[in-house]
Amino acid sequence: MNAVPKPPLAMPAPLVSASDIVQEYAKPDGTTLRVLDAITLKFERPSINMLLGPSGCGKSTLLRMLGGVRPWDVKTPTSGRVEIEGAVCEGPHRDAVMVFQQYANRPDLTVRQNVAYPFQFLEWKRRVSKTEMDSRVDEMLKQVGLEDKHSHFPSQLSGGQNQRVALARALVLRPKVLLMDEPFGALDAQTRSNMQALLLSMHKTAPCLVVFVTHDVTEALLLGDRVIVLSTQPARVIDDFQIATPTPRTEGWLQGQEVRQLHERVVGHLRAAGSRGNVRVSV
Ligand code: ADP
Repeated sequence: MNAVPKPPLAMPAPLVSASDIVQEYAKPDGTTLRVLDAITLKFERPSINMLLGPSGCGKSTLLRMLGGVRPWDVKTPTSGRVEIEGAVCEGPHRDAVMVFQQYANRPDLTVRQNVAYPFQFLEWKRRVSKTEMDSRVDEMLKQVGLEDKHSHFPSQLSGGQNQRVALARALVLRPKVLLMDEPFGALDAQTRSNMQALLLSMHKTAPCLVVFVTHDVTEALLLGDRVIVLSTQPARVIDDFQIATPTPRTEGWLQGQEVRQLHERVVGHLRAAGSRGNVRVSV
């Protein structure tokens, strides 16, 4: 008897995909500004993806779009589509959260209340019980090392501690997609390095898809499973490579010849794209 051939297994949809994205904004003189052009990117699984490009090229526009966040008065994207787990993303997605350089902690709330803040919203009240919320918030405060500061207000914290609160508020939701817009850009070198280590360790505990915008090439190489470089406006993908070395990566690794060449390659792209003053070139 002939064996009945098995149907091919369906491939799971990428976690996030952006297909043929074009974004245009209206200019005051009535013409349009094309910011993103023919951007196609797929993110198959939880990983850390670093996004670089010259200032003003459209990184934030693309980042927000990946989570369905868009200006209220602009059709976003102008053409193309973003999908999350195979479903077209047409508005802010409940499994995507953002962390910004300006950490946006509420000054009138304590550290604990800031971390618990998203659970005020009906959507999250429905999804997570009060007991579960309390235990998640406690666990998150422990992970970011702010247990003893739980009743402090943001004005009583350093910049790094405030960014820890913002990171905790994002991760307490256990997002599938974490979108970070230069989150450590305003921190001093030592605090930035501590926050990078914290992000890596928290990502190992609870893997999700991270897309992380940075100006710092060294930061991209230290954190990224993948590095994507955009050109100047209208932005296109001009480089896209994987880094297989496990994290955390060492100073010695950074100094290796192959990595120095990668560093030069990215800096070269950014210089060619006309980036002025925004690229940190130290290894
Ligand atoms: P980047 O993050 O790379 O610095 P942005 O995505 O913030 O770049 O902005 C890219 C370009 O799009 C800039 O020229 C900016 O002025 C323009 N832009 C961004 N948002 C809007 C908007 N809502 N309306 C009009 N122009 C915008």
